[in-house]
Amino acid sequence: MVSENLKVVEENIIRACERSGRKRSDVTLIAVSKTKPVTMMEEAIASGVSIFGENKVQEILKKQPLLPGGAEWHLIGHLQRNKVRSIAGKVAMIHSVDSLRLAEQIQKEYQIQDLTAKILVEVNIAREESKFGLMPEETEEVIREIAKMPNIKVCGLMTIAPFVQDPEENRIHFKNLRKLLVDINSKNIDNISMMGLSMGMTGDYEVAIEEGATFVRVGTGIFGSRQYGQ
Ligand SMILES: *Cc1c(COP(=O)(O)O)cnc(C)c1O
Repeated sequence: MVSENLKVVEENIIRACERSGRKRSDVTLIAVSKTKPVTMMEEAIASGVSIFGENKVQEILKKQPLLPGGAEWHLIGHLQRNKVRSIAGKVAMIHSVDSLRLAEQIQKEYQIQDLTAKILVEVNIAREESKFGLMPEETEEVIREIAKMPNIKVCGLMTIAPFVQDPEENRIHFKNLRKLLVDINSKNIDNISMMGLSMGMTGDYEVAIEEGATFVRVGTGIFGSRQYGQ
């Protein structure tokens, strides 16, 4: 099932790239494997996937020893400050930096281990009550502060768009996140030149690619629906 699903997702990505005049190599597929067993992740690897997204620190730490070798891990879920120490150095990128205090904690722990954290700043672009992430108007200010932290490299912005039936409804949010990225880059802040836009999930990754996504985070579309509480 995983390999068939991946074929469909890959074709969809290629077509979205063609529609928007982008190169396939400009878009990185992150296979969101949260709650899914390592056996399914091995299937994904056999079909060419090399990057996994997880939203819980504990789950990453549990799965990593079971999947040795080339896999790359991205943390995409809310990160509590008291978990930063255990994740430091274990993931290629943290997509979900949603406060200055969290960035400060990352700076502290990565400095201790003499590492650099690649991060994305999470923006609540649609201003949803229930969502983590910075408000668009406070994002530049926070990035200016993070830019001073020597052990953090800000690689771009991330958002979780609203849950909608018609993905076209989210186009405006993807457009707005890209605008915000271009706008902040134009301020020529020292150490800030952001290339990354992490946006788009199973329901809307094609629209996100058309609007400039460089990372799409696809779970259900690859691994099937999730069952919680088992
Ligand atoms: C679960 C999750 C995804 C993947 O969602 P699907 O709709 O299953 O593709 C993407 N991003 C984040 C932050 C997630 O938590």
